Amino acid sequence: MEKSHLNWVSLVKYFFMINLVLFGKPGAGKGTQASFLKAQFNLIHISTGDLFRNHISNQTDLGKLAKSYMDQGDLVPDQVTIDMLENEVDQNPQAKGFIFDGFPRTEAQAEALDLFLAKKEMNISATIALEADDEILIERLLERGKSSGRTDDQDEDKIRNRFEEYNTKTAPLRAYYTNQNKFHSVNGIGTIEEITTRLTHLINSL
Ligand code: AMP
Repeated sequence: MEKSHLNWVSLVKYFFMINLVLFGKPGAGKGTQASFLKAQFNLIHISTGDLFRNHISNQTDLGKLAKSYMDQGDLVPDQVTIDMLENEVDQNPQAKGFIFDGFPRTEAQAEALDLFLAKKEMNISATIALEADDEILIERLLERGKSSGRTDDQDEDKIRNRFEEYNTKTAPLRAYYTNQNKFHSVNGIGTIEEITTRLTHLINSL
């Protein structure tokens, strides 16, 4: 009896949970859009960048380690990032779904995420890339750096290094998710509202 109930719950979860990966270069608007989408679709927003920044403010060992990479615009090593993300998902067992913002950023992370979700009878519903030209993104990031205090947003060389990390390590995930028929692209240029509308249409059509 209990077993069949569990199977039913698993099926419902598998088909009706929305788990989104927001994909895009630094400055593409992932965080901004995630905060609208989480309210609209009742999802838990997990930003690995925000989690690392919390660890840095709390001066944890993980924060100290992450800072040494983040300050250079380099990616934090996969395993620590994966462990942190999984821990965050585990802390939200009642979630109706998740928005993963800034994760996965490497193929190893994407594979780890698929395995981890499969163990929980969950899967990724869609990966949505916010697209914008580098020069526009650099302008946005330098502007954001003036108020955010983020050192990685204040120096053009570090920003370019983050783009380089994206191009070499994260861009291959397009093929990874295209192979799973889960890759979608959205124009990330426009007002915040326009972009939210594009994303909402896409998510409603999934
Ligand atoms: P973000 O706030 O997403 O722009 O991330 C800021 C920085 O945090 C990145 O430049 C990386 O150093 C680190 N970071 C965030 N997410 C990840 C990830 N999934 N893998 C490795 N490093 C990450």
